[in-house]
Amino acid sequence: MQLDSRSDYHTHTTFSDGQGSVADMVVSAIEKDLAKIVITDHAPLPFATRYALSIQELEHYRSQITEMQSAYGDKIIVGMGMEFEFIPEVYSWIDAIQRRDWDHRIVSIHHLGAGKSLHLVNGNAKEFASLFHSFNNDGKALCTHYYKTLQKGLATGWFDIIGHLDVIKKHNAEFTFFREDDDWYQDLIYETLELAKVHGMSMEINTGGFNHPPAEQYPSRWIIHAARENNIPLLLSSDSHTPATLGQNFDTFI
Ligand SMILES: [Zn+2]
Ligand SMILES: [Zn+2]
Repeated sequence: MQLDSRSDYHTHTTFSDGQGSVADMVVSAIEKDLAKIVITDHAPLPFATRYALSIQELEHYRSQITEMQSAYGDKIIVGMGMEFEFIPEVYSWIDAIQRRDWDHRIVSIHHLGAGKSLHLVNGNAKEFASLFHSFNNDGKALCTHYYKTLQKGLATGWFDIIGHLDVIKKHNAEFTFFREDDDWYQDLIYETLELAKVHGMSMEINTGGFNHPPAEQYPSRWIIHAARENNIPLLLSSDSHTPATLGQNFDTFI
């Protein structure tokens, strides 16, 4: 399966936690000779975060992307996208936003509920430690909850791309929390891929992980291999938060 290294399906702007405007990202993508960029800021959430788009800015976000499509449409395809975070507790909120017209809807997990509170999965090491602690330091329980929540997101049928499928490994470079070669872990992955196949979803190879402690893409190579075996379409994405990193490390996978 040939990967398209001239399309970047996952990018952030100053509308969420990125450092460049929509225009900055599109101009940089053209300079980097990309044929397609999808803008996928973090979908608004009904509680405060340090990264999500504000609900009041949703129309402005969409109109900025439309403007860039008109301004640069002869040079590059600019996709109207969004990175949704699947949180079962706020199902209706997400549904209302995903119903809008989007070229691509990424589904990711960033938060997990433990007890009454939500904890960040892909925050800093301290935040991950507190998430782990809230699962009684049980890596299997934590991973099971993570993948079962992602699977619920896939089962909605709302989304077309799985975002950083195994971001739960972000702070697990030393296998402190779980081992990917355990049967129970691999079963969770295979179940997730099976569901992706049923819903006709693509899986991104997210090169943003090269800038995180794993120093490699999400997901792990063996998961990419399993997705290929299952004929799940693969897309490249940089998860860029700056114009400079668009298309980063794509050549590793072609
Ligand atoms: Zn994400
Ligand atoms: Zn992202």
